[in-house]
Amino acid sequence: MQTEIFQQKYGKKMTILSKSSIVIESGIILTEKMRRKIQQEEERMRGVETRIQEIRHAVFTEVARMAYEEGPVDKKIEALPYKIIPGETGNFRNDVFLERAIVGERLLMAMGLPYRGAAEPAPVSDGIMEADKPEGYYTPPLINVIKFACNACDEKKVHVTDGCQGCLAHPCMEVCPKGAVSLDRTTGRSIIDQEKCIKCGRCASVCSYNAIIIQERPCAKACGMDAITSDENGKANIDYDKCVSCGQCLVNCPFGAIADKSQIFQTIRAIQSGEKVYAAVAPAFVGQFGPKVTPGKLRAAMKELGFTDVFEVAIGADLCAKQEAEDFLKEVPDELPFMATSCCPAWSVMAKKLFPDHANCISMALTPMTLTARLIKKHNPNAKVVFIGPCAAKKLEAMRRTVRSDVDFVVTFEVA
Ligand code: SF4
Ligand code: SF4
Repeated sequence: MQTEIFQQKYGKKMTILSKSSIVIESGIILTEKMRRKIQQEEERMRGVETRIQEIRHAVFTEVARMAYEEGPVDKKIEALPYKIIPGETGNFRNDVFLERAIVGERLLMAMGLPYRGAAEPAPVSDGIMEADKPEGYYTPPLINVIKFACNACDEKKVHVTDGCQGCLAHPCMEVCPKGAVSLDRTTGRSIIDQEKCIKCGRCASVCSYNAIIIQERPCAKACGMDAITSDENGKANIDYDKCVSCGQCLVNCPFGAIADKSQIFQTIRAIQSGEKVYAAVAPAFVGQFGPKVTPGKLRAAMKELGFTDVFEVAIGADLCAKQEAEDFLKEVPDELPFMATSCCPAWSVMAKKLFPDHANCISMALTPMTLTARLIKKHNPNAKVVFIGPCAAKKLEAMRRTVRSDVDFVVTFEVA
């Protein structure tokens, strides 16, 4: 029925393959298989509450507490690494000083300040008053590698594990095109000469015991833009000409060595100063917080926190979809071969960087975030608008000069 209405109205054929798999003429939006693969990848790390999330939440909690309390923050912030990492010994790193230094760096970024690194001697509180200015914008880079937290993981390595049975067939030796696999006669197991290995993974694919594994650097593996290389010390390095601030490296680093900036401090200070602060919340909150957090409960909680009111960004998404549909019907196929959406800044920046020849095929419609913020400000001209959503890249969008006057702050969901 939906497909008939679509065809009648727009003269284009639409096929629904599944709940989330729609094909419009030849342009596949998302197949069920692709959706499942993406979901599995996301759940692999995100579903597990680890020490990384614990520290991240502790940092945000303390920054929020500091913002709610009156007075200067310089003395308070110096004490926070000791509060978050107490005691004489470190936890998993076994180095309490290193852990506190990492927390110090995280605190700065949680307050929206730049990453500093270990090379410059300076207390955590140096320049902290910058965070307390009423007008604060995100400054690039948004996503930062905390170098002294980075494990300098191997970029890619093929290992023989204890699972090797030293089998008679030894197909790993047979298939290696570089002669990098040999048999260790003492242990009876295969060994790989890392100098010769070209990481093609053929040996791993033929082992009947799955005894050969390919380890990849988690941050680089997660980055769809190939933006992560190594610096002179083997630590991860982000090429900001390629990075689209999607945050995938951040959620996939098992050492918590990558962090983004936040505006939680500035948001709370704006509320505390008595300004009217409106929350524009992405509909994704339903998936983030689970079925018990109803829109009514969320609204009540946000108002309790001091927000003047709460709007769902779905309203902006409807306006955006309408605009994009109109543009699509007007321009495709006469002026443009296809039209891609513009809602996700990471996606649209990626498309423009990788396919510059098709940059004009990305819709010019304003995003749901900006449209919702404009709507709020139209009725409340002096209000501040905070976008609250799941995606780090929205912070990238809010940095744009054209969007700064619409969206004052962006914060992302954190589930405790
Ligand atoms: S995954 Fe984390 S620890 Fe490993 S190289 Fe990347 S940033 Fe460093
Ligand atoms: S593009 Fe995404 S995954 Fe790659 S470096 Fe940038 S934020 Fe990390």
